[in-house]
Amino acid sequence: MDRLVPPGHQRLFSVLASSNHYLRTDPNRSKTSTQTVDDLKSFMDWINDYCTRHGRSDVIPPVNGRRWPVTTRQFRRTLAWFIARRPGGTIAGAIAYRHPSVQMFEGYAGTSESGFRPEVEAEQALARGQQFVDLVAAGEHQRLTGPAAEEAELRLAEFAQHADFRGKVVTDPVRLKRLMARRDPHIYPGGFVTCVHVPERALCHRDDAGPSLSDCQPLRCRNVALNADNREALATHLRHLDDALADGDALAPFPRRRMQQQHNEITTFLARHTPDQEPS
Ligand code: SF4
Repeated sequence: MDRLVPPGHQRLFSVLASSNHYLRTDPNRSKTSTQTVDDLKSFMDWINDYCTRHGRSDVIPPVNGRRWPVTTRQFRRTLAWFIARRPGGTIAGAIAYRHPSVQMFEGYAGTSESGFRPEVEAEQALARGQQFVDLVAAGEHQRLTGPAAEEAELRLAEFAQHADFRGKVVTDPVRLKRLMARRDPHIYPGGFVTCVHVPERALCHRDDAGPSLSDCQPLRCRNVALNADNREALATHLRHLDDALADGDALAPFPRRRMQQQHNEITTFLARHTPDQEPS
């Protein structure tokens, strides 16, 4: 969007020169919903035309023989779905908008009158609910390690109890959303840690209630639990540090010292929190 917006324009979602409305609107105003819907339709046509010209089959398919009448709400929810399901969702949002920092994305989403932030958060809760169902079904929660592993197990066991509806685990999104609204275990799976959030113990700082995985201090926070993927991610990071340190002469003294220190800390941390027999 940054690159598409002509120089000097103040808004990220202003009316673009390619839009039918360009000559009729002050380009420094945000788009209206009607303009956005028109642009989305043109975008869908462009995609399908591109696919036809290049012999590609991944077109946007018609529904009941007609182009799907996409609305801004559907578009926003689709965006929220993808942001919520990419690892480090908020960071993905920041990248998508090319904002220079996560804080800016959170500011943008938080102040947006469209209610985009609650929408992303609702999708994130649902995505977490689906992960919990999978964790519980696979018995994965018993393989958590780290300072908060025991707490995670208790919370997941309680969640499993409520997710079990007459012998069947709830997977229907509407019921799962309701369950998460009432019984959210406040566990946040991330790349390097699974955060078992207790606000008073959190070492990351965020104004509202949830954790901020992008500011996580995985080696120090007592809210950390580790699943097999987290341990593998830390081990991979350790291998990258190994490679960088092997070429240590190319590094300035300060970064080399910091890397070596981080390497030692992660090695000790992993040794302490890896089960005797890591499942293959
Ligand atoms: S520092 Fe990390 S583990 Fe601790 S509360 Fe924040 S996100 Fe969770």
